[in-house]
Amino acid sequence: MKTWRQRLAAVLEWSEVDKSIFVMLLLIPILGAYIASIIALQLMPNATLLVHLEPLHELLKIELGLLFGALVITGVGIYLRKRRPTTLWIQHLATQYYSLSLITCSYYIGTLTFCTGVVLLGAPVFGFILLNRRVVWGATIVSTIALLGLTYATAYGWLPYAPAVIPPTNSATNLIWVNLIFFYTAPHFIVIIMFADQILHYWRNREDTIRTLSRTDMLTSLLNRRSIMELLDMEVARTLRHGPPLTIVILDLDHFKRINDTWGHPTGDRVLKEAARILTTCIRKCDLVGRFGGEEFMIMLPDTTLAGAATLIERCRAILAETTILADNGDTIHISGSFGLASNENRLLLSTEAMIKLADEALYRAKAEGRNRLELALPFA
Ligand code: GH3
Ligand code: MG
Ligand code: MG
Repeated sequence: MKTWRQRLAAVLEWSEVDKSIFVMLLLIPILGAYIASIIALQLMPNATLLVHLEPLHELLKIELGLLFGALVITGVGIYLRKRRPTTLWIQHLATQYYSLSLITCSYYIGTLTFCTGVVLLGAPVFGFILLNRRVVWGATIVSTIALLGLTYATAYGWLPYAPAVIPPTNSATNLIWVNLIFFYTAPHFIVIIMFADQILHYWRNREDTIRTLSRTDMLTSLLNRRSIMELLDMEVARTLRHGPPLTIVILDLDHFKRINDTWGHPTGDRVLKEAARILTTCIRKCDLVGRFGGEEFMIMLPDTTLAGAATLIERCRAILAETTILADNGDTIHISGSFGLASNENRLLLSTEAMIKLADEALYRAKAEGRNRLELALPFA
């Protein structure tokens, strides 16, 4: 069961239209709170000490109009969400509407406030995480131009600055204005911080999952070829610098095609999984095993000489050869593997490719000499 926070964080996966509706659903309560604050201001007995009632009334009408517009855009979004969920213009519209609505409101109480700063910085950052980047760039550019235009128009005296506000003359009115500005800022602040946290948390988890999936073989859950090769490259580079030998093993299950042919591919898959499980349990904690190809595996034994590896791998071979797997029809399947080992002891300049080639040649000999056995790479081959 998903928590409401997980559901909201999953907004990243929503369609373009759903995200547009989401933007409007953020704006609607904010406008609602602003409208409530204007009505409360008008009702205050000493309102005329704080605000010019006429522009405030004008602002109330504008905000009611903006609220209506937001509801209409939400309605259009709801209409589109199942029909054309990838429509982008609605996201442009919703985002532009969101930012221009807030700028319009900010004009009446002063564009140069703490509130404008929080929204101007927070909204684009939040927007870039959530929305299409063109949409966010578009809204950021338009609203920045609008905000600068308004601010300079007031600075040049073409428009009055903060027409609804009577500048505070004493500490009581000053306090009311400070509280009001905090009240106007709080919803933005809470939404931006809360969503950024949840969405980034969701994002990080998703990244971890994707990274793990990209490194894992789906069938056996072992490291996949790419990741075992990357680790091998790193380990070879480390041994070149620090010296302790590295031994690698390539193993190939014997007559695997026969297993597929006799009991079917799904049983073959089960055998591969079981072989992977056995290999994982018979190596040490510091060793790594990966699926190298179809029924081929690679084991990497750091700080291990060829002779040391041979003892360990002989044990693995024996365990594998003693393993039986029950087929769906009740048959007992016996498995075995052939192992080729190569080490870079005494040959520290061996490259990854050269080591793999040596292990492969050893494996080929193990096959040629009867399978279910291990062969070591010939010294200085
Ligand atoms: P050898 O002892 O010489 O290695 O004989 P083999 O039959 O094991 O070798 P071959 O390379 O001819 O056959 C390997 C088979 O492995 C063929 C392929 O269908 C099977 N195989 C590869 N990947 C998978 C897989 O993911 N699942 C299953 N079930 N079979 C696979
Ligand atoms: Mg093979
Ligand atoms: Mg094989």
